[in-house]
Amino acid sequence: MKTHSVDLARSVAENCLDCSICVKQCQFLSANGSPRHLAELFLKEPDSDLAFRCSLCRLCTAVCPKDVDPAGLLMAQRCQAVNHDKGHHGQHRPLLSYEKRGSSRLLSWYGLPQGCDTIFFPGCALPGSRPQRVLDVVSQLQGEIPNLGVVLDCCTKPSHDLGRRDYFQTMFSGLLEILKRCGIKKVLVACPNCFRMFKEYGTLEVQTIYELLKAPSGTALQAEVTLHDPCGVRFDSQIHGAVRTLVRDAGCTVREMKHHGKNTLCCGEGGAVGYLDKDLARSWVELRRQEAGELKVITYCAGCSHYLGQSMDSSHILDLLYEPDRTMAAKVKVARAPMTYWHRFRLKKKLAAILAPHTACCRQDMEG
Ligand code: SF4
Ligand code: SF4
Repeated sequence: MKTHSVDLARSVAENCLDCSICVKQCQFLSANGSPRHLAELFLKEPDSDLAFRCSLCRLCTAVCPKDVDPAGLLMAQRCQAVNHDKGHHGQHRPLLSYEKRGSSRLLSWYGLPQGCDTIFFPGCALPGSRPQRVLDVVSQLQGEIPNLGVVLDCCTKPSHDLGRRDYFQTMFSGLLEILKRCGIKKVLVACPNCFRMFKEYGTLEVQTIYELLKAPSGTALQAEVTLHDPCGVRFDSQIHGAVRTLVRDAGCTVREMKHHGKNTLCCGEGGAVGYLDKDLARSWVELRRQEAGELKVITYCAGCSHYLGQSMDSSHILDLLYEPDRTMAAKVKVARAPMTYWHRFRLKKKLAAILAPHTACCRQDMEG
């Protein structure tokens, strides 16, 4: 996977009008200058690691009237810095260890029943923080898809975003290879980041569970909430719509924040900025807090829910669907590390009991 940061920098330097529309929306650009200014800087200093302060949220790309793609440039610049050995930051080590454990013998698991061509891929954060939600989703989906399989593995987006493209490419194509060899044609995801990786780099059909799930009957909350759309699915309006339908079917009314859908804001966790600059990451959360006001925030990314939850009342939509009253009362138990690893390990046995899979082994055994 080649990156063309110099070509992208030239294109942004030529096409950006310096109109400030994106700058006014962005904490990173407000502090560091317009996309045109940054492109000129990167052309002068090709190994600059400034891009590691950008959340990679793509709001700039979404609002630009000239179809300039500053986020694409900032992503390419991260890759360029890594390729030139300037983009490795010791602070990211915990995140990379977390990622590695997701594909390890201990935590990865491929549970595939006979005749399975569709899998649920819940990602890393959801099974760790809310293992019961994974089981709830599996039992609901099994009603529609009797031979449903489940794969616990990591999509390796952290490495993707940290510019470690060779590692990402090896791991993600290895994952795809196993799935294709096993006859899998469709991947159902819970995490917006996994969705983006499968959509942009995969060759299998991918869909979120939110487009398939139905709100369990008997939920009639009569509460007003607001919705935080994760950046990973910024441009996927069908997912925004499906989530709103679920929330309304659960009995809630939705009051939209100023930034939603295509124009959503970063929750603060994007691009792993917080590992290098906590204050900058927190400034994004603060914007969200101001827009949400007193309303409860519902989101559909376990990472966003956790990050926003540090400053406001925020819940995952799956908690709202399966434990509505406790969710509205902010009483749902959400596990934190290191318990998350224990939950992921134990989930394998619980899933095996539900699925009775023909194949049940870790990634390393699947790679053979
Ligand atoms: S909105 Fe587009 S043209 Fe305006 S400053 Fe941003 S990138 Fe440049
Ligand atoms: S991707 Fe997000 S954080 Fe990065 S420059 Fe664009 S709007 Fe700002």
